[in-house]
Amino acid sequence: MSDPSFRVGIGYDVHRLVPNRPLILGGVSIPFAMGLLGHSDADVLLHAITDALLGAAALGDIGAYFPPSDMAWKDADSRHLLRVAVGHLRTAGWSTINIDATVVCEAPKLLPHVAAMRESIAATVGIGIECVSVKGKTSEGLGFTGRGDGIAAHVVALIQRHTEEASPSCARSSSE
Ligand code: MG
Repeated sequence: MSDPSFRVGIGYDVHRLVPNRPLILGGVSIPFAMGLLGHSDADVLLHAITDALLGAAALGDIGAYFPPSDMAWKDADSRHLLRVAVGHLRTAGWSTINIDATVVCEAPKLLPHVAAMRESIAATVGIGIECVSVKGKTSEGLGFTGRGDGIAAHVVALIQRHTEEASPSCARSSSE
Protein backbone atom coordinates (compact mmCIF):
# COMPACT_ATOMS: atom_id res chain seq x y z
CA MET A 1 0.00 0.00 0.00
CA SER A 2 1.59 3.24 -1.10
CA ASP A 3 -0.40 5.49 1.24
CA PRO A 4 0.09 5.27 4.98
CA SER A 5 -3.14 4.33 6.77
CA PHE A 6 -2.96 7.21 9.24
CA ARG A 7 -2.08 10.86 8.89
CA VAL A 8 -1.91 13.71 11.36
CA GLY A 9 -2.69 17.36 10.67
CA ILE A 10 -2.18 20.63 12.50
CA GLY A 11 -4.38 23.71 12.42
CA TYR A 12 -3.93 27.19 13.85
CA ASP A 13 -6.06 30.31 13.69
CA VAL A 14 -6.38 33.73 15.29
CA HIS A 15 -9.20 36.26 15.26
CA ARG A 16 -9.38 39.71 16.80
CA LEU A 17 -11.82 40.38 19.67
CA VAL A 18 -14.03 43.41 19.06
CA PRO A 19 -17.23 44.89 20.53
CA ASN A 20 -20.62 44.35 18.91
CA ARG A 21 -19.92 40.88 17.55
CA PRO A 22 -21.26 37.55 18.86
CA LEU A 23 -18.65 35.19 20.30
CA ILE A 24 -18.98 31.80 18.63
CA LEU A 25 -16.52 29.04 19.49
CA GLY A 26 -16.85 25.47 18.26
CA GLY A 27 -20.28 26.33 16.85
CA VAL A 28 -21.53 27.46 20.28
CA SER A 29 -22.67 31.00 21.12
CA ILE A 30 -20.89 32.12 24.28
CA PRO A 31 -22.18 35.08 26.30
CA PHE A 32 -19.40 37.70 26.38
CA ALA A 33 -19.02 41.46 25.99
CA MET A 34 -17.00 41.03 22.79
CA GLY A 35 -16.90 38.73 19.79
CA LEU A 36 -14.48 37.69 17.07
CA LEU A 37 -14.02 39.78 13.96
CA GLY A 38 -13.95 38.01 10.61
CA HIS A 39 -15.55 37.58 7.23
CA SER A 40 -17.49 34.50 8.35
CA ASP A 41 -18.78 34.05 11.90
CA ALA A 42 -15.05 34.07 12.82
CA ASP A 43 -15.25 30.80 14.77
CA VAL A 44 -11.52 30.52 15.41
CA LEU A 45 -11.83 26.99 16.83
CA LEU A 46 -13.76 25.54 13.88
CA HIS A 47 -11.38 27.25 11.45
CA ALA A 48 -8.37 25.62 13.13
CA ILE A 49 -10.15 22.24 13.12
CA THR A 50 -10.98 22.65 9.42
CA ASP A 51 -7.33 23.43 8.65
CA ALA A 52 -6.09 20.48 10.73
CA LEU A 53 -8.33 18.05 8.83
CA LEU A 54 -7.53 19.51 5.41
CA GLY A 55 -3.85 19.54 6.34
CA ALA A 56 -3.89 15.90 7.44
CA ALA A 57 -5.26 14.91 4.03
CA ALA A 58 -2.94 17.37 2.21
CA LEU A 59 -6.04 18.97 0.69
CA GLY A 60 -4.92 22.57 1.10
CA ASP A 61 -6.33 25.02 3.62
CA ILE A 62 -9.55 26.75 4.55
CA GLY A 63 -8.66 29.88 2.55
CA ALA A 64 -8.45 27.87 -0.66
CA TYR A 65 -12.04 26.65 -0.34
CA PHE A 66 -13.63 29.67 1.33
CA PRO A 67 -11.70 32.79 0.32
CA PRO A 68 -12.52 35.91 2.39
CA SER A 69 -12.98 37.75 -0.91
CA ASP A 70 -16.03 35.57 -1.69
CA MET A 71 -19.22 37.24 -0.43
CA ALA A 72 -20.86 33.80 -0.26
CA TRP A 73 -19.02 33.25 3.03
CA LYS A 74 -19.92 36.62 4.60
CA ASP A 75 -21.09 35.86 8.16
CA ALA A 76 -21.14 32.16 7.21
CA ASP A 77 -21.77 29.54 9.88
CA SER A 78 -18.36 27.90 10.19
CA ARG A 79 -20.01 24.55 10.92
CA HIS A 80 -20.97 24.57 7.24
CA LEU A 81 -17.35 25.20 6.21
CA LEU A 82 -16.20 22.32 8.41
CA ARG A 83 -18.88 19.98 7.00
CA VAL A 84 -17.75 20.81 3.48
CA ALA A 85 -14.12 20.07 4.40
CA VAL A 86 -15.12 16.75 6.01
CA GLY A 87 -16.96 15.93 2.77
CA HIS A 88 -13.78 16.58 0.78
CA LEU A 89 -11.87 14.25 3.09
CA ARG A 90 -14.52 11.56 2.75
CA THR A 91 -14.41 11.83 -1.04
CA ALA A 92 -10.62 11.51 -0.90
CA GLY A 93 -10.98 8.36 1.22
CA TRP A 94 -10.31 9.68 4.74
CA SER A 95 -12.20 9.32 8.03
CA THR A 96 -11.53 11.41 11.12
CA ILE A 97 -10.23 9.50 14.15
CA ASN A 98 -9.88 12.26 16.73
CA ILE A 99 -9.49 15.99 17.24
CA ASP A 100 -7.61 17.66 20.09
CA ALA A 101 -7.92 21.44 20.43
CA THR A 102 -6.55 24.17 22.67
CA VAL A 103 -8.23 27.58 22.69
CA VAL A 104 -6.07 30.38 24.08
CA CYS A 105 -7.85 33.34 25.66
CA GLU A 106 -7.77 35.30 28.89
CA ALA A 107 -11.57 35.58 29.03
CA PRO A 108 -14.25 34.33 29.02
CA LYS A 109 -13.77 31.14 31.02
CA LEU A 110 -14.30 28.30 28.57
CA LEU A 111 -14.76 25.37 30.93
CA PRO A 112 -18.53 25.87 31.35
CA HIS A 113 -18.88 25.65 27.54
CA VAL A 114 -16.49 22.79 26.79
CA ALA A 115 -19.15 20.06 26.81
CA ALA A 116 -21.37 21.98 24.39
CA MET A 117 -18.42 22.73 22.10
CA ARG A 118 -17.33 19.07 22.05
CA GLU A 119 -20.88 18.00 21.26
CA SER A 120 -21.22 20.56 18.46
CA ILE A 121 -17.87 19.64 16.89
CA ALA A 122 -18.55 15.90 17.14
CA ALA A 123 -21.95 16.31 15.48
CA THR A 124 -20.51 18.49 12.71
CA VAL A 125 -17.61 16.15 11.92
CA GLY A 126 -19.67 12.99 12.41
CA ILE A 127 -17.59 11.35 15.14
CA GLY A 128 -18.24 10.48 18.77
CA ILE A 129 -17.93 13.14 21.47
CA GLU A 130 -15.29 10.94 23.12
CA CYS A 131 -13.10 11.60 20.09
CA VAL A 132 -13.20 15.39 20.47
CA SER A 133 -11.15 17.25 23.07
CA VAL A 134 -11.36 21.00 23.74
CA LYS A 135 -9.12 22.64 26.29
CA GLY A 136 -9.16 26.27 27.38
CA LYS A 137 -5.88 27.96 28.26
CA THR A 138 -4.87 31.47 29.27
CA SER A 139 -1.49 32.92 28.34
CA GLU A 140 -0.90 34.40 31.80
CA GLY A 141 -1.58 37.93 30.60
CA LEU A 142 1.17 37.77 27.98
CA GLY A 143 0.92 38.74 24.34
CA PHE A 144 -2.19 39.47 22.26
CA THR A 145 -4.25 36.73 23.85
CA GLY A 146 -3.18 37.83 27.31
CA ARG A 147 -4.23 41.43 26.61
CA GLY A 148 -7.59 40.23 25.34
CA ASP A 149 -6.94 41.52 21.83
CA GLY A 150 -7.83 38.19 20.26
CA ILE A 151 -8.35 34.45 20.62
CA ALA A 152 -6.09 31.75 19.18
CA ALA A 153 -6.79 28.08 18.56
CA HIS A 154 -4.36 25.20 18.07
CA VAL A 155 -5.63 21.83 16.81
CA VAL A 156 -4.24 18.45 15.90
CA ALA A 157 -6.34 15.85 14.11
CA LEU A 158 -5.74 12.23 13.17
CA ILE A 159 -7.34 10.70 10.10
CA GLN A 160 -7.43 7.17 8.71
CA ARG A 161 -7.93 5.66 5.28
CA HIS A 162 -11.40 4.21 4.79
CA THR A 163 -11.41 0.44 4.84
CA GLU A 164 -14.43 -1.73 4.14
CA GLU A 165 -13.62 -4.36 6.74
CA ALA A 166 -12.37 -2.29 9.66
CA SER A 167 -13.95 1.05 10.43
CA PRO A 168 -12.09 3.22 12.93
CA SER A 169 -13.45 3.13 16.46
CA CYS A 170 -14.37 6.80 16.57
CA ALA A 171 -15.51 7.50 13.02
CA ARG A 172 -19.19 7.06 12.30
CA SER A 173 -20.58 6.32 8.91
CA SER A 174 -23.50 8.73 9.32
CA SER A 175 -23.60 11.60 6.86
CA GLU A 176 -23.74 14.70 9.06
MG1 MG B 1 -10.24 32.11 10.68
